[in-house]
Amino acid sequence: MSNAQYDPNNVFARILRGEIPAERVCDSKHSFAFYDISPAAPVHILVVPRGAYTDFHDFTSRASNDEILDFWKLVDKISAEHSLIHHGFRIISNIGPDSGQEVPHFHIHMLGGKALGPLLS
Ligand code: 5GP
Repeated sequence: MSNAQYDPNNVFARILRGEIPAERVCDSKHSFAFYDISPAAPVHILVVPRGAYTDFHDFTSRASNDEILDFWKLVDKISAEHSLIHHGFRIISNIGPDSGQEVPHFHIHMLGGKALGPLLS
């Protein structure tokens, strides 16, 4: 199924194609993780599917079960390997205009490395 809304030139699509650099964290068959260029916490990792999905709803409704499982397993692997799971961390996904989503390729933010405080502060 195609997604007419997806902009193939968004910055994360370009990172996935190797057109612009990113500091890789780890990757898997269907997913890729890299450090945010403008970190909001001591650890700020972005995880994206390799497939062309605009946001969480698009990913969840169109991706295969294999892609979805691969994505969340990679998130869990990162949380263990970067010691996030031991102290706690936060997952955020901005979805659509009200959230302020900047990059229209589905991603989650993994934030940790310090006590993060209230979600909306
Ligand atoms: P959003 O608001 O879409 O949820 O978050 C987009 C995130 O992507 C922001 O935290 C921003 O700092 C990050 N970002 C934007 N451009 C780049 C880039 O070229 N490289 C990396 N590594 N992160 C980026």
